[in-house]
Amino acid sequence: MIESLERFKERVNRISRLGQIAALAGWDQQTYMPTGAAEARGEQMAVISEVIHELSVSDEMGALLGAAESDTAGLDEDTDEVRMLRVARRGFDLARKLPASLVADMSRHQSVAMGAWQEARSTNDFSKFAPALQITIDQVRESAGYLGYTNHIYDALIDQYEMGSSQAEIAAMYSDLTPHLVKLAAAIRAAAQVDDAAIHGDFPIATQKETTLKIVQALGYDLTRGRQDEAAHPFCTSFSRNDVRITTRYNAMFMQQALYASLHEAGHAMYEQGIPERFAGTPLSGAASLGIHESQSRLWENQVGRSRAFANYVFPILQTAYPETLSSSSPEAYYKAINRVESSLIRVEADEVTYNLHVALRFELECALLTGDLSIADLPEAWNARMKEYLGIEPPTNSVGVLQDVHWSIGLIGYFPTYTVGNLVSAQLWKTIREAIPDIDSNVESGNFAPLLGWLNKNVHSYGSKYLPGELVVKATGEPLKPAYYVEYLNAKYGEIYGL
Ligand code: ZN
Repeated sequence: MIESLERFKERVNRISRLGQIAALAGWDQQTYMPTGAAEARGEQMAVISEVIHELSVSDEMGALLGAAESDTAGLDEDTDEVRMLRVARRGFDLARKLPASLVADMSRHQSVAMGAWQEARSTNDFSKFAPALQITIDQVRESAGYLGYTNHIYDALIDQYEMGSSQAEIAAMYSDLTPHLVKLAAAIRAAAQVDDAAIHGDFPIATQKETTLKIVQALGYDLTRGRQDEAAHPFCTSFSRNDVRITTRYNAMFMQQALYASLHEAGHAMYEQGIPERFAGTPLSGAASLGIHESQSRLWENQVGRSRAFANYVFPILQTAYPETLSSSSPEAYYKAINRVESSLIRVEADEVTYNLHVALRFELECALLTGDLSIADLPEAWNARMKEYLGIEPPTNSVGVLQDVHWSIGLIGYFPTYTVGNLVSAQLWKTIREAIPDIDSNVESGNFAPLLGWLNKNVHSYGSKYLPGELVVKATGEPLKPAYYVEYLNAKYGEIYGL
């Protein structure tokens, strides 16, 4: 046993427990907390995150980390210990790069900017948000300067969410992907639209609660270590691998909303539940990256949940749950309905074909704002022009255009591409899984999800954050991330559905 390493792990474990308590307070805030508690909760969470930050960047922590590093210097590069210290070093150095005054300014500005954004969105007046957004961009630029980069200012930002990635890599990903998506979306617009009547109707919410829970449990989401509640914006949160909670939202006339939010969040949750016990409380207890996290939610939501095999599995369950609404429908009608593609204005409602076009345009605009190639005043027009170019539609108002996402108001810039990375990784994993488990379709159709979850546990979840996302993709699929697999998946699936 290396004593300095044990001392370091003990310290990290204490800080990670504080983080888990903060996450619990955050979960409560979004689920059951009475609205009157908002201010007090905000203060409670600010104190706890301040304490966590101070402990994480303290000189004492630096000394513990340094001692553990020198005492493990001779160990193999691939051991948990060396990898763990590498993740810790990265986090420690990043956290110490930003001056406390800038962090405080950014967090103070966040609530102002969010208020301005809400006001602008509700009154459809971009000019009410523009000054706050300008400050956000300036602050983000300043923070990128402290974080450091060699080629592009965006490198410093994307690297926080998708470690090891760069602006050049993301730009190359989109220049490969975007033309295929634009072409497929246009071909679908020109084809006869599929009927989605099967998924609209009367779906009592009490039944939806029971049914979605039964289905995510069947996938392998362990309810002895999790639970499902309701939230306006569905999310998954983990307090330890033994308490990973999901939320969903219900619409009594459109059952898909809750079901697919549940499938998505359960995908995130099964990842967290599958991270090994030996990593608990250490720097390896998290996900490899946001993109890898999203690959897990998307795989269960889309590659599985929107497949014909899954439609055959789930439709009889749904028909039993909603006998009156679904009596005259069929698994095939259901399959087509859940895969209807439509150019729409809102990213979070977009289908598999158009979703990444919404993200591509945000990435391009973020880069242009950061480099100064685009001014805030010209942003709405640039947004609308790209919507027209990529999706063939133009937002009638800024509220359903440039003002639709919360991200920029809270300073989350450099984050959007992780959604596309997640979608691409999910398709590449799915291709590998189909080769590894040749009877995957009949497994899914008969509700036997254990071989799939077992494969993901072994090839993705079991590594926690031991590897960089790029390394993990190679480990799990045998090659680096390639947009071609996503394009092939979409072309085959939607070519058949739309008769292209
Ligand atoms: Zn997600």
